[in-house]
Amino acid sequence: MISKILIANRGEIALRVLRACKELGIATVAVHSTADADAMHVRLADESVCIGPPPSRDSYLNIHQIVAACEITGADAVHPGYGFLSENAKFADILDAHGITFIGPTADHIRIMGDKITAKQTAQELGIPVVPGSDGEVKPEKAMEIARQIGFPVLIKATAGGGGRGMKVAKTEADLDEAVSTARSEALAAFGNDAVYMEKYLGKPRHIEIQVVGDGEGNAIHLGERDCSLQRRHQKVWEEANSPALNVEQRMKIGEVCADAMRKLKYRGAGTIEFLYENGEFYFIEMNTRLQVEHPITEAITGIDLVHEQIRVASGGGLSVRQEDIVFSGHAIECRINAEDPRTFVPSPGTITHFHAPGGLGVRVDSGAYAGYKIPPYYDSLIGKLIVHGRTRVECMMRLRRVLDEFVVDGIKTTLPLFQDLVDNPDIANGDYDIHWLEQYLAGDKTH
Ligand code: ADP
Repeated sequence: MISKILIANRGEIALRVLRACKELGIATVAVHSTADADAMHVRLADESVCIGPPPSRDSYLNIHQIVAACEITGADAVHPGYGFLSENAKFADILDAHGITFIGPTADHIRIMGDKITAKQTAQELGIPVVPGSDGEVKPEKAMEIARQIGFPVLIKATAGGGGRGMKVAKTEADLDEAVSTARSEALAAFGNDAVYMEKYLGKPRHIEIQVVGDGEGNAIHLGERDCSLQRRHQKVWEEANSPALNVEQRMKIGEVCADAMRKLKYRGAGTIEFLYENGEFYFIEMNTRLQVEHPITEAITGIDLVHEQIRVASGGGLSVRQEDIVFSGHAIECRINAEDPRTFVPSPGTITHFHAPGGLGVRVDSGAYAGYKIPPYYDSLIGKLIVHGRTRVECMMRLRRVLDEFVVDGIKTTLPLFQDLVDNPDIANGDYDIHWLEQYLAGDKTH
């Protein structure tokens, strides 16, 4: 049994995890940098420990300080949230060595999925469909031969990749040399590793991902998909569940493929298997071995609290639900509210002078923001998430329009006006968009 959880994160996700702990009657420890002493997650936790100065590497990524905070407070488990140490296998190993439960998968599974090549090979072995591409790493001298076999256009990707860095398209043979060398140098600069591999470049895919949860003993469930195609620079902006592009049969088929793979892997915890989807086919791109930012839309349509499930399986209590008992109900949309200019996405830190969160049926706001809150400039610009649920997609969009009108965040710029534009856009209303739609729209290339 877990009796006290240290939440190794900040912002809305720290608050999200804290809420689940409170509901389960588990004591909570917040950690924070000196810049976050006034944060809501610190105020609401049972105990808090300052773990260092503002830069993440000195505080939220400082493993020594976090382990020390566990020792000081007697926390017997750590929930890493997303980002920071959530996919750090060494952190999971160190906690294990100290007898502290890591609320997440095994360090081995984090390692396998953290390397793009082993992840793709493992996915393929587990029966998950992957993007056609090179068999492992591609050396520059072999690049042309492999690219011709795959067929142009091809995408060069960093094996250590993340956040879209070290990724370059070669449309034709003439582009290949340059694409390979820039991908390699970007990868070296970002990850200290210049290894790259190659994939068929898909022209107009959607990004569709499947939520899974496993108990580590060979039982696993899927909770359907999320469509995260509306992205800017590979960052998700608006997510929905279900995908406007899938029907029930398609959902259950790909969901079962993923759940089955997790059963074979004996996966423990929550995870997301990400695909590109084009012309009715799914192509695996990566697996995230953690809770995702956009998990609340899955919770909205299934009624299942994913953090409760994570804590249950981490403490050996098994899953609370069987696959056949999961009911997918209605439609949910999440808008990521960032402290950014809604057109240029330039960060806009500062003090929130007025904050009013909307309410009513089917509305959830996950945010640590409040009037008077000063957004520190050191961390990512997500200040909250608006999640709206309706019985149908049409009802959900109507509700979202109303709720966006009600939301007030003054003193800083936010992405709220962008969502007000999107909710009235005919392509969005029709669910007719792919992963390039938003960038084309922002560049003025869309007629709507
Ligand atoms: P990262 O870990 O760097 O974010 P991913 O493999 O998750 O890399 O891919 C990020 C994004 O890049 C995808 O959501 C998609 O927009 C684009 N992408 C990745 N692979 C392909 C591909 N084979 N064809 C076209 N676009 C791709």
